[in-house]
Formats: sequence, structure tokens, C-alpha cells
Amino acid sequence: MLIGAHVSPAGGLARAVERGVDRGCRSIQIFNQSPRMWRPTAYGEEDFAAFREAMAASPIDAVLIHAVYLLNCASEDPEIAVKSLTSLTHSLRVGDAIGASAVVLHPGSAKTGHVGEAIERAGGVIREALASSERCPLHLENTAGAGGTLGRSFEELAALIDAAGGQKRLGLCLDSCHLLASGYEIRSAADLAATLEQCDRALGLDRLGSLHLNDSQKPLGSNRDRHANLGAGELGERGCAVFLSEPLFEELPCVLETPGPDRSGPTAEEVALALKLRRRGQATRARSKRGQATRPSSKRASGSKRARGSKRASG
Ligand SMILES: [Zn+2]
Ligand SMILES: [Zn+2]
Repeated sequence: MLIGAHVSPAGGLARAVERGVDRGCRSIQIFNQSPRMWRPTAYGEEDFAAFREAMAASPIDAVLIHAVYLLNCASEDPEIAVKSLTSLTHSLRVGDAIGASAVVLHPGSAKTGHVGEAIERAGGVIREALASSERCPLHLENTAGAGGTLGRSFEELAALIDAAGGQKRLGLCLDSCHLLASGYEIRSAADLAATLEQCDRALGLDRLGSLHLNDSQKPLGSNRDRHANLGAGELGERGCAVFLSEPLFEELPCVLETPGPDRSGPTAEEVALALKLRRRGQATRARSKRGQATRPSSKRASGSKRARGSKRASG
């Protein structure tokens, strides 16, 4: 797993790589423009070259670009839809230029409208943005499910991928906070495995390309998107350790988008904590595996209990 953090590209794209290195990251995520403004940052070829050079000289192996929050690819307002298309296309082209692993996108919001129609609209915008860029993958992020936001369930994400044409470039980014908030229990190894089975049935785990690890201030099924620092929320250190040690996540970039101790984002200490929790999670999994290996006797015990039970029932 390539553990890393969301970092700022203030002062130039290559500065984001420096910030990642300072935090001990193996992956980073950036906004390619100010997240609360439509105006794109005008990067030139020198910026891209400096970024690629900094990446090559660093231990960072993956960069994700988060599309800005203003986007609503499902908007009924033609002006917002066009602006969303322009901005998403721009993100994908920057992704092409810097060799990003993916652009990560919140699929959009139906607001108070019909969800099926919103999915079709979002699919159309995404399809067009992909057609206007070369190769950078696009990962739809699962959402907490607040209001009319799309992508709260694996089935909805599958419908969005279908509506966008189902190309190979379309993938999935799973956010731990959003999973819990949208009602998926992931805090034990067995629960996370069951959730991933559902994901596999709905859209195929081969689509899974990136991860966000955030603890959640709000409880299971709350549909509220409030990130907490690792261990300080409803997932807790145990839940984070389970997520970080999931074998199916082994090859993926996993970035922290936590508020951090002074609300300026994840710190080196928190990236180090993630590495520690990952080792703890792996140790717990190894112990329970060894436990399973010696379980035949306990299986016999429960089998005999069942036998006693049925005997009583029949008697
Ligand atoms: Zn996220
Ligand atoms: Zn979030």
C-alpha cells in the first residue's frame, strides 16, 4: 500500500512533491486548482516538467488529482454543467501531463431531483471529459450520501460507470469515512471483507484504483461527511488498522485527507501513525489466521453443541 497525504501545490506543482516527501509519503493527492474557484490555474510545460522531475527523484510512486468541489456533473443548470465539464476535462489533461494515477471525482448531486436522470446527466459529462483527454484514469469516489449526492452505494457507482460508457479508464476510489457514513460497516476484517464482496458484485473489484483513509466524526449510516484524524473518530485506531491492512488494498495509493492537529491537513506524525496502524492490523490478521489454523477442535465443539441442540429439539 502506498500511504500518503493530500498536500497543497501552493508555490508550484513541484512544491507538492516536497511537501509529500517531508511527510514521509509514498503517494500524494493535490487539487489542480483552487478548490473553491472555477478559474483554472494556468500551468505550463515547465511546471509539468519540474513536477515529473521532482517525482522521479522522490520515493513517491503515485499522485492523485482531486477534482474541485464546485463541480456538479449532474447539474440541471446548463451553465454549471458546462463549467463542470470544462473543469473536469482540465483536471484530466493535467493528469495526462504529470502522469497522475487518476483524477478523483465526487460524481455529483441530484439535489432534490430524480436520481436516475441525474446519473444519466453525470454520465454524459464524464463521457465527454474522457473523450477530450488522453489516458489519465478517472476514479469515482464513493460519497457519504448527504442530500442528493450520487455515489452513496456500490449500485449507484456501478450505474454511474455504466452511464459514462464503462471505459477501462473509469475506476473507483473508496473513502473509509464515506463508507461508514453511508452505512457500510468496515470496522472489523470480516465486515470490511463482506463490504468489499458487495462492491465486487456491484461493479467488480478490478475497478478499485485508489483509497482515502479518513476517520469519521459521524456514526455509521449518518450520511454526514465529517473527516476526523486517524483514531479520533468512529473508526478508531482498530477500524483504521483494519482498512490499512486489507490484503485487497495492497497495491493501491491510500491518501489521508484528515483535518490534522491544526486543521491544515495531515502531518508527518499522522502518516507515521498510519504506517504503525497498518503493521498492527497486519499482526492482528496474522494472529487470527493462526487461530483459525488451530480451530478444528473448536469447530468440533460447536458442531457437538449443534448436535446437542437438535437432539433436544427432536426430544
Ligand atoms: Zn475522500
Ligand atoms: Zn469527505
